[in-house]
Amino acid sequence: MASAMQYVESACAKCGREHSHTENHEYEYKDTVDDDMNCHICLAPILDPLDTKCGHTFCDLCITQTVKAIKMCPLDRKPTRIEELRESNYAFKRLLDKLKVECPNCSAGMERGQLEGHLQGRCRSKRVRCTYAGCQWNGPEREHADHVETCEFGFKNASIKNGAKTTIEFEMEEGELIGISVVGGNETPLIAIMVQEVFQNGAAKRDKRLKAGDIILKVNDMDIQDVQHVVAKNALSSAKGTIKLMVYREQREMDKFSSNLELKRVSIMKNKGVPLGISISGKKKQPGVFIVNVTPDSVAARDRRLKAHDRIVEVNGRRVNQIPPARVSELFKQNNRQINLLIAREKSEQSRRNSKDFESSVAAEATYQPLRLAVIPRARAEKTVVIKKCSSSEKLGMSLAGGISPKVNIPIYVSKIGPDGCVGRSGQLNVGDIILAVDGKKLSDLSHQECLDKVQKANKNSRQVSFKVIEADDIENGGNGNSYHPSWLKWLALPPQIDNSKKVSLQKAKEESLGFIITGGIDSSHGPQPIFIQTVMPGGVAYKSKLLKCGDIIVKVNDNPLTRVSHEQALQVLRGVKEKADLVIKSWPGTLV
Ligand SMILES: [Zn+2]
Ligand SMILES: [Zn+2]
Ligand SMILES: [Zn+2]
Ligand SMILES: [Zn+2]
Ligand SMILES: [Zn+2]
Repeated sequence: MASAMQYVESACAKCGREHSHTENHEYEYKDTVDDDMNCHICLAPILDPLDTKCGHTFCDLCITQTVKAIKMCPLDRKPTRIEELRESNYAFKRLLDKLKVECPNCSAGMERGQLEGHLQGRCRSKRVRCTYAGCQWNGPEREHADHVETCEFGFKNASIKNGAKTTIEFEMEEGELIGISVVGGNETPLIAIMVQEVFQNGAAKRDKRLKAGDIILKVNDMDIQDVQHVVAKNALSSAKGTIKLMVYREQREMDKFSSNLELKRVSIMKNKGVPLGISISGKKKQPGVFIVNVTPDSVAARDRRLKAHDRIVEVNGRRVNQIPPARVSELFKQNNRQINLLIAREKSEQSRRNSKDFESSVAAEATYQPLRLAVIPRARAEKTVVIKKCSSSEKLGMSLAGGISPKVNIPIYVSKIGPDGCVGRSGQLNVGDIILAVDGKKLSDLSHQECLDKVQKANKNSRQVSFKVIEADDIENGGNGNSYHPSWLKWLALPPQIDNSKKVSLQKAKEESLGFIITGGIDSSHGPQPIFIQTVMPGGVAYKSKLLKCGDIIVKVNDNPLTRVSHEQALQVLRGVKEKADLVIKSWPGTLV
């Protein structure tokens, strides 16, 4: 925030606001002022009163400028000259100086005559201006953060800071996408929508701010913190022109918790028939989930260790940083007898914010609409189709995508079918079908070009080509002339016989953590799930290796399978890693938006 702030050096020493010397001081009066004390030119309480010969009183600036211009008293039109204006009597000036005003910087109340001294001495708050290009705002320092949050000029310039919510705005060219891939959605254990990759040559890349791992909280004011994948996909891909995104970037690995926070582990035994008594909520500016209050006489109240404004970092071993409060409350219900919490509390009571910071709160034991189950891979039948051609030289009339590259490993699939080609005419293949083999030759573990060569070879000088395929289930898009790109969920739902797992090795110092947060497990609130990487902590071991992305599935760690383990068991395996972690992961491309 400091980058968008500058102290206002030119603020008036007397009234604390910025105005030119040809304008009156500006005061915020606390009470209604008797009309006799108002200037009939500027209609505000008189400043530096001057009397006219005809017995009227105005502000020095007001009457001087008026007499210069019209050479008469504006009230009774009696001819008046500047030299005839006289200072008002001392008693009247004192009365005016006693009017109650508010300090524009710290809101303290005082007499008007005292403000100048207050501004130079006791007032702790300074006047600052917003430095975003084009923005005219200036105000008290304490209101600056609020302003920056809503500053239209800031969205174009604000830099995304670790551990804070930031709104950014950038332009997309006609027909252009944002140019990122996303993973997550509330039907997956990630819940949040996260950027998996920022593509070269896209709107996001031009803007330069969005990074892999960023969580997208809002798209053009639509909240996507707790929506299904396809809802987020539609919101993101339908954006045009100027797009506004509210994003959260995880704190850096080393400064996860500032030193004025103390971390506490609290285990609470539930008591049948007695409410748990914890209300939780998000905060407007800070990420995370906080305790709003503890109900008197509840289990939590009797325990006495939890307080309002405590931040909930973990529930039963699960990090809840990016999870909406309503979903966090579901975790409270999970473990039957005991709840284990990791709490972060600010050490100084004074630095605790007030209750206005909270968004709407939810009770920990309330019931929410259950999350729809994530797509689960299920076996699907393979079939062989034979495409008959009109002539041996005819082209097949379809496009293929996929194959192994240094970056991704995805099976070969049909991305486009021309309606008039022989594939289109046959009606036997669909966009999204995965091709396992052509004329009996397997296409797995080959690069895209190698696959194309095999298909070409089979097609050349032949009257028919056979394809072994796994049929697409339902198709989300495609068929409208564009190439079909499977969404992240489509990849997750692929039958288990399609395996794109790969090995990656991470090297770390003994006391270091691997630098990522996991979610999922057989005890997930979504039903049995694999272990997903939720967050790669910026600056950590995994982050520097560039080998892991949010949304990746961890299959194995140093020969310990993580395919059917609880969240806690997975944590134990990962904590047991000393210096080297050989991981087997499945990394599916995110959804293009
Ligand atoms: Zn002033
Ligand atoms: Zn005036
Ligand atoms: Zn007059
Ligand atoms: Zn003040
Ligand atoms: Zn501004």
